[in-house]
Amino acid sequence: MKEYPVTKNQEIQVTIIDLTHEGMGVAKVDGYPIFIENALPQEEVRVKILKVGNKFGFGKVMEFITESPERQTVENEDLLRTGIAPLSHLNYAKQLEFKQHQVQNVLTKIAKMPEIKVAETIGMEQPFGYRNKAQIPVRKIDGVLTTGFYRKNSHQLIAMEDFYIQDPAIDQAIVAVRNILQRFNIKAYNEEANEGFLRHIIVRRGHYSHEMMVVLVTRKPKFFKGIEIANVIHEELPEVVSVIQNVNEEKTNVILGKEERVLFGKAYIEDQLLGKTFRISSKSFYQVNTEQTEVLYQKAIELADLKPTDVVVDAYAGIGTIGLSVADKVDHVYGMETIKEAVDDARENAKLNNITNATYLVGKAEKIMPQWAKEDVAPNVVFVDPPRKGLDQTFIEAACEMQPEKIVYISCNPSTMARDLVHFAELGYHTDNVQPVDLFPQTYHVETVMVLCPKNA
Ligand code: SAH
Repeated sequence: MKEYPVTKNQEIQVTIIDLTHEGMGVAKVDGYPIFIENALPQEEVRVKILKVGNKFGFGKVMEFITESPERQTVENEDLLRTGIAPLSHLNYAKQLEFKQHQVQNVLTKIAKMPEIKVAETIGMEQPFGYRNKAQIPVRKIDGVLTTGFYRKNSHQLIAMEDFYIQDPAIDQAIVAVRNILQRFNIKAYNEEANEGFLRHIIVRRGHYSHEMMVVLVTRKPKFFKGIEIANVIHEELPEVVSVIQNVNEEKTNVILGKEERVLFGKAYIEDQLLGKTFRISSKSFYQVNTEQTEVLYQKAIELADLKPTDVVVDAYAGIGTIGLSVADKVDHVYGMETIKEAVDDARENAKLNNITNATYLVGKAEKIMPQWAKEDVAPNVVFVDPPRKGLDQTFIEAACEMQPEKIVYISCNPSTMARDLVHFAELGYHTDNVQPVDLFPQTYHVETVMVLCPKNA
C-alpha cells in the first residue's frame, strides 16, 4: 500500500501557500497538496484531514493560528460550503486581483503569450445582491418543503434563505413561493428514488423592470391545482407576471426539461439593457448580473469602434442583446444561436426596439459561420460570446476566412479563451490587451473581453 504523509482524521498545523482557481487554500506536507476550504494564503491553521487521495487530500480548518489581513467576515459559512459564494472570505479588492492573476496565468501557461497585458478587473461598487436569477433545489427535510443549496460536490441540501449574492427580492420570493407550495401540500422531489414532484423553483427578476418570472420544475406533467397555485403566487407577489411549469421526468442534473406550460400570465419577462428592451423566456440565456453586463457590453462596443457601414456578426447571440445594442450604429447585424426559444426572443426583441437590420438564425455557430463565409457574408466586426467550452476550431477558421477588421471576444472561461487565442494567432489574429470584468463577485468565475485584429493591419 502506498504511504502518504498524512492520514485521515489526523490534526496538523500547516501554512497556506496558495489559492486554487476555485478558491480553496493549498498547503503542502512533504510535497503532498492538501486543499482546505475557507483558508487564505499566509494563514497558519490547524486542520483535520478529511480525505487522503492518490495525488492530494482535503482538510478542514479546526483553528486559525494566524489570520490573513485580506480576510473578511463571512456572513454565513454555508456560502462557502455550498459554493454559492466561495470567495466571500477574501476582501473584494483582492478578489479582483485574484481574477486578474487568473487571466495572466492562463495567458502565460496555456497560450504562452505572457506579453499580453491584462488590465485591472473592473469591479462593482456593491458586490452582492446582484444576481437576477436563482435556481433553487427543493427537498423535504423533517417533513417540510425546504429550499437551499447543495453542499459542494454533493446533492445534500443545506437549508438557506439568504443567498447574499442574489437580488434580495428574489430570495424573498423563493421563500414565499415555497410556503405557498407547502400550504398546498406539494411533495418535494426525492432524487435517490426519482420520486415526488417539485424539483426546482427558478425565479428571474428584471433589474430595471422588476418583472418576475417563477418557473416550477416538476417531475410529472399533471399538476393538481397548478393554476390555482400560480394565481396565489401572483396575488402574494404582485411583481410576478409569469408562472411557468416546466416538466423534467429524467433522473438528471440538468435542471430544465423540454415540456412547458404557462400557469399564469405571459411566457416571458421584459427588462432593459443599455436602454433597449429585451424579452426573456424561461429557456433563454440572459446574463445574471445586469449592471456589470452593461459595463462589459460598453467595453465590447468601445473596442469594436463601429462605423455606419459596418456589417456585424453576433455569434452565440442568446436573445440578441449584443447585436441589437449596436444595430442602430451599423448597416446590418447577423446573429446565430442554438436555442430556438432564444432566437424567437431575439427576433421579437428586434421588433420591440424597431430594429429592421438584424437577422437571427437558429443553429450552431460552427455550422452557420462556414455557410455564411461561402455565401460571401463579409462582416467587418465579429462579436463572439461562447459558453464555457469556448470556440470550435471550425468556427475560428470560418471567422478568420471572412477577414473581419476586428473580432471582439467575450469569454466566461479564461482557459478555453487562452486555448482559442493560440488558434487565432495561427490564422493571423492577435490581441495585446485583455480586460477582465467582474460579473460574478464573491465567486471564482472570471469574465473577459478583448479585441483581436490582423497583426499587420
Ligand atoms: N450573447 C448572449 C449569450 C451568451 S451565452 C448574451 O450576452 O446574453 C452563450 C450562448 O451561446 C447561449 O445562449 C447558448 O445557448 C449559445 N450556444 C451554445 N453553444 C452554441 C453553439 N455551438 N452555437 C451557437 N450558439 C451556442
